[in-house]
Amino acid sequence: MLVVMHAKATSSEVERVCEAIRAMGLAPHPMPGASRTAIGITGNRGTVESASLEALEGVIQVIPVTRPYKLVSREVKADDTLIQLPGGSSIGGEALCVMAGPCAVEGRQQALRIGRAVKAAGATVYRGGAFKPRTSPYAFQGLGREGLEILAEVRAETGLPIITEALDPAGLDLVESVADVIQIGARNMQNFSLLRRAGQARKPVMLKRGMSATLEELLMAAEYILGEGNYQVILCERGVRTFADHARNTLDLSLVPAVQRLSHLPIVVDPSHGTGRRNKVIPLARAAVAVGAHGVMVEVHDDPDRALCDGPQALPPEMFQDLMDQVRALAPIVGRRA
Ligand code: PEP
Ligand code: MN
Repeated sequence: MLVVMHAKATSSEVERVCEAIRAMGLAPHPMPGASRTAIGITGNRGTVESASLEALEGVIQVIPVTRPYKLVSREVKADDTLIQLPGGSSIGGEALCVMAGPCAVEGRQQALRIGRAVKAAGATVYRGGAFKPRTSPYAFQGLGREGLEILAEVRAETGLPIITEALDPAGLDLVESVADVIQIGARNMQNFSLLRRAGQARKPVMLKRGMSATLEELLMAAEYILGEGNYQVILCERGVRTFADHARNTLDLSLVPAVQRLSHLPIVVDPSHGTGRRNKVIPLARAAVAVGAHGVMVEVHDDPDRALCDGPQALPPEMFQDLMDQVRALAPIVGRRA
């Protein structure tokens, strides 16, 4: 259910409605917008007794939300969500967000060198995995806690906010204490206990689309996070499995306008995992910007042949600089800046 408030409703009127919702044993989620505040209601099993809410001061109407997700939807919040990051960058607005860095943090010097390079080229967020979800249990699993410490050093030196992945609820405690954005990977998109824990975090969360997830499944996964009270969620298209064998995955760029029609959450595109091949990353990063994504996530390594993870898709720093130059030229055409 959704309570729509008058444009001029005061904050105390909004709070009174929230109190009435809590008194029913349900959870209110006020979503202020440019033209009105709406209050999403979660926790109800059936319909909510709406007459008493409709009688409250400042309320226009109480409407049912028919979709299986509510808080992520444009019905509840018409305006785009803008997520502010430490250091002044943001995700979801006019400024294009460019997250770049190695697949995995392999060591202090490696992470710092790549950090300096991506910062110089114009990246706005540094990425690097400390906990790696690897298909083989014998593959490099990441440096763990030490990797997080190195990420904090990269932030201190470059000033870039850090995004890194949490694999499980216990790891999320650690990641939350260091990261500026918590990443939930494709393999965990429907790890519901992890999603709930991420919803209790007070840091932005980037949720990557599962490799066979539909748009609705992605939005419902995000709903788990918002349902716990964390509204700072970024969605990420990273390719899905198809019969195509010229690339690691098939990057589904049509997801971007489809998400933007249904949801107020920002959406970024990862052409590195989306293609798995270095020569396809720049063209698809351009395409991602052209289709209207709020940003891109790109893997960069200064010695890709010796990378411990995902070397074939890593851009050397010169290629990343080229990507930035191209994206900068393209962004204004679609109303963005990089
Ligand atoms: C990653 O970005 O480090 C990663 C593992 O990606 P995905 O979850 O999309 O496979
Ligand atoms: Mn990777």
